[in-house]
Amino acid sequence: MDYKGRLERARAEVAKGRLDALLITHLPNVRYLCGFSGSAGVLVVSEEKALFFTDGRYREQACEEVRGVTIRIIKGKSALAAATDWLSQQKPFRRLGFEAQHLTVAERSTLARSLRRGTSLIQAPPMLERLRMTKDSDEIARIRAACQLGIELFSRISKLVRPGVRETEIAGELEFAARKAGVEQMSFPTIVAGGSRSALPHGRASTARIAPGFVLCDFGVILAGYCSDMSRTVYVGRASTEARRAYGAVRGAQQAALDAVTPGAAVGAVDYAARKYLNKNSLGRFFTHSTGHGLGLEIHEAPRLAAGLSEVLRPGMVITIEPGVYLPGKFGVRIEDTVVVTETGYEILTLCSKELLEI
Ligand code: ZN
Ligand code: ZN
Repeated sequence: MDYKGRLERARAEVAKGRLDALLITHLPNVRYLCGFSGSAGVLVVSEEKALFFTDGRYREQACEEVRGVTIRIIKGKSALAAATDWLSQQKPFRRLGFEAQHLTVAERSTLARSLRRGTSLIQAPPMLERLRMTKDSDEIARIRAACQLGIELFSRISKLVRPGVRETEIAGELEFAARKAGVEQMSFPTIVAGGSRSALPHGRASTARIAPGFVLCDFGVILAGYCSDMSRTVYVGRASTEARRAYGAVRGAQQAALDAVTPGAAVGAVDYAARKYLNKNSLGRFFTHSTGHGLGLEIHEAPRLAAGLSEVLRPGMVITIEPGVYLPGKFGVRIEDTVVVTETGYEILTLCSKELLEI
């Protein structure tokens, strides 16, 4: 991983934001910049310094993982308290940026109390999240491997989908197979939702038993730190004309959105392509979420692919394309792929059949 290049780019962003230093408390951002994958650590980046603070529990892990920054192992206090102490001992930074989404009100007031006079605490824009939007080749390789494993897992568990089996059993088998294959954890709680539960866009696997009808499966794995995300919806039994129509419309909408993925396209235009297709099929009002999201170290990252947003796609962005329709009390269908934006368009990383599978 190119930690050196990332730190350089982060410093350029810090300077552009007219900050003298940035206090980084969001762990995925810490990991992105220096490699630390533990659950307690804080990074301070200024023009000249880059210091990583953690506590004694992470001594060996930090020495093994952390690259390109100075490591400070602190006894008897939290990483944030240690970073705060260090900051209070420096020649005051005039403008110290912090990550507003990732610092509690209590932490912010402790920090403000401890800093020397002359330092202003500035709510930093999501500069690291912006850097993370474009993945480098090492990151794409890891996401590709996670997605590849996702495909293999789906082909195995789709064989377990049959009437009478509980949703949790299917999710459990999937997650067990994932762990056996080396997965650190799932990207999010696995969704297996059958029958009318498939109309819940985020219907976590329940104890309900699979009956004839749609079964929506949405899951992701985290492999070597990077997430995958895919959804397929299968049908138990023979699909009715209405079900078939809805499936065909979602599949068409997904393809329309994929066709809009190209460098320079606005994310809002990709969302619009899916929405327009579903509107034409009189199903637009049942498409109740946005078309997709970025993913990488986290399952939901920038950019969000939602109506009206103007963020522009660039080569190296990894995003999901996941339109769906949800008919309350009846059924839901979602088809989701993870794709990487290329110089000329896109490449699907979760490449497997999207034909309606009747089981
Ligand atoms: Zn998903
Ligand atoms: Zn998703």
